[in-house]
Amino acid sequence: MEIACLDLEGVLVPEIWIEFAQATGIEELKATTRDIPDYDVLMRQRLRILDEHGLTLPQIQATIATLKPLDGAIEFVDWLRERFQVVILSDTFYEFSQPLMRQLGFPTLFCHRLIADDSGRIVDYKLRQANPKRQSVLAFKTLYYRVIAAGDSYNDTTMLAEADAGILFHAPQNVIDEFPQFPAVQSFEDLKKEFIAASSRDLSL
Ligand SMILES: [Mg+2]
Repeated sequence: MEIACLDLEGVLVPEIWIEFAQATGIEELKATTRDIPDYDVLMRQRLRILDEHGLTLPQIQATIATLKPLDGAIEFVDWLRERFQVVILSDTFYEFSQPLMRQLGFPTLFCHRLIADDSGRIVDYKLRQANPKRQSVLAFKTLYYRVIAAGDSYNDTTMLAEADAGILFHAPQNVIDEFPQFPAVQSFEDLKKEFIAASSRDLSL
């Protein structure tokens, strides 16, 4: 049995914080872990900025609802789900991803959670667990699933390494150069071919 594990942002949907920063014109929200490596510091800053602009969770979700999955992503997910059990492993939050996941037909998603008060103000966030992507792959392997994983960035590389086969998709050149052990592709058509090649089954039938 095989499971396909996919990253979400940068693979199926745009980077949510960056798109949200563009949609609202709030430049400071464009900071990522590349600018502020400590994730907790970064998230505290994001929540403070949301507060300063009086942005509540329902308002943020309404903005995110205007975003669309990447071109070809919906068709790709449908294709993949006909051939594999698909689980999306993401460092986003359920409350943010909801509008985009709806457009993808709500495939299984493991990610983190935001905590909002009665007024909709986001007061905190809760990480699902440490090293969530790698731990999920490890867990599937204890269930004797063969895991094929695809992702675009540094936070995916431990997942790709733990999987039976790892694929870089839409990765920037520095990640491709640093992790030459993984095949790297840029289009959904090529990603399908990598999944077919990585599968232990004959998917051409
Ligand atoms: Mg990503």
